[in-house]
Amino acid sequence: AAKAQGRNAYRFFSAEMSSRARERLLIEQGLRRALQTDELVLHWQPVVDLNGGLTVGLEVLVRWQHPELGLILPARFIPIAEESGLIQALGRWVLMTACRQARLWRDQGGPRLRIAINVSVCQFADEGFESGVRQALQDSGLDPASLELEITESVLQRPEQNQPVLERLRALGVNIAIDDFGTGYSSLALLRQLPVDRIKIDKSFVDDLADDPHATAITGAIVGLAQTLGYALTAEGVETAVQRERLRSMGCDDAQGWLYSRALPVDQVPAWLAGQAAVLVG
Ligand code: C2E
Ligand code: MG
Ligand code: MG
Ligand code: MG
Repeated sequence: AAKAQGRNAYRFFSAEMSSRARERLLIEQGLRRALQTDELVLHWQPVVDLNGGLTVGLEVLVRWQHPELGLILPARFIPIAEESGLIQALGRWVLMTACRQARLWRDQGGPRLRIAINVSVCQFADEGFESGVRQALQDSGLDPASLELEITESVLQRPEQNQPVLERLRALGVNIAIDDFGTGYSSLALLRQLPVDRIKIDKSFVDDLADDPHATAITGAIVGLAQTLGYALTAEGVETAVQRERLRSMGCDDAQGWLYSRALPVDQVPAWLAGQAAVLVG
């Protein structure tokens, strides 16, 4: 009986494996096609100044508008893009498309905003990355100071390789933010040496802000650290007014989250920004 069970368990296991492998393959092949057609889209999440309440930035978040499967979130295809090497092409597309769109809004009289773009570790480590950034800036004519690249703590783990790249990017005028701060491994001493402008406090700390005293202490420590070292701060995933008030009283600069707005499709961004201007005037 044990043998039969083992065999069943094995069959079940391999069936599950193959369906996962199939999905992977489907996504990988689909992504290749999506990069040629218009299936990838960018959504834009407002980043708000905690004191003035105005939108000061937009984070660019990629989505895949799949003809059969509908809108697919990045968690489902970014890891596959990373493993298959497609992330380089995808990343270039995101950079170029976002910079052009941001420049277009500026030309149409939109406010000066920080445009934050996510960069995977393997994307950052690729030798073509830097030239991709230069090209996107040149092509679009976007002011480099408007561009912020979001990297993760793992980029900091290879300082001898990555520090020169970070320094050259900053020499261009581009800003560097550490995304999901507090979730990875990073040495504070290293952080201090590296050219970084901003820290983004991970949503997991923000989530617990209302009721967990430890999370409140950790967030307070991150805010204190950032202030001491001179980094700007953005809190991610702010969903409640209580979280917003805690963050504001701690001295956090900016926030983004569903309390303010979800990531918006491109055609909804001008209305959002216009609404803000109306608040300012009225
Ligand atoms: P991230 O950079 O930490 O982005 C924040 C994620 O939290 C986004 O998920 C956003 O939609 C979501 N979010 C924002 N506010 C709230 C909130 O109040 N509550 C909740 N529950 N969620 C909130 P999304 O768009 O699914 O992106 C997931 C991750 O995928 C991103 O995490 C980022 O690391 C990665 N990603 C997105 N776009 C790109 C891209 O163009 N290139 C690369 N390499 N990675 C990307
Ligand atoms: Mg991000
Ligand atoms: Mg990220
Ligand atoms: Mg994040």
